[in-house]
Amino acid sequence: MDTETKAQLKATLDGYLETSRHRKTSERYAILDAVCEMTGHFTIEDLGERLLSRNFPVSRATLYNTISLFIKLHIVIRHRLPAGTRYEICDMENNHCHQICNVCGKITEIKSQIVIDAVGAIKLQRFRREGFSLYIYGICSTCMAKNTRSKTLMEQQKNK
Ligand SMILES: [Zn+2]
Ligand SMILES: [Zn+2]
Repeated sequence: MDTETKAQLKATLDGYLETSRHRKTSERYAILDAVCEMTGHFTIEDLGERLLSRNFPVSRATLYNTISLFIKLHIVIRHRLPAGTRYEICDMENNHCHQICNVCGKITEIKSQIVIDAVGAIKLQRFRREGFSLYIYGICSTCMAKNTRSKTLMEQQKNK
């Protein structure tokens, strides 16, 4: 993430904590730093490990509370996926589609100009567009290969 985006996110947090008279705890800023370092999707556990590796252990309760705050402030978005909850930096310039494997739960991101244009062309009803996220469910190539291998194995055993 570039320093400008990071500064903007920090300013968002500063502004909220000041106006809501919340304490500016070092934990909240350490968690924001860790969030900025994450690439793609992450879990609460990933975030906890990242903080631990920086010698800044944070309790699960604090992590959950802070992430909820970040969601409210549009710093982070939450994906509720079959494989569990994943978080991602909220970047309106980075609208993308997710390919989600129904077998292993792996998520890969793809950009599609067709989808970006189509969503842009949708006439919304009393609603201001901020961004979008699209999920495409299916089977990843690794799982597909495994599937084919086990099928062949079964066939071979049948023919013995
Ligand atoms: Zn898979
Ligand atoms: Zn994503």
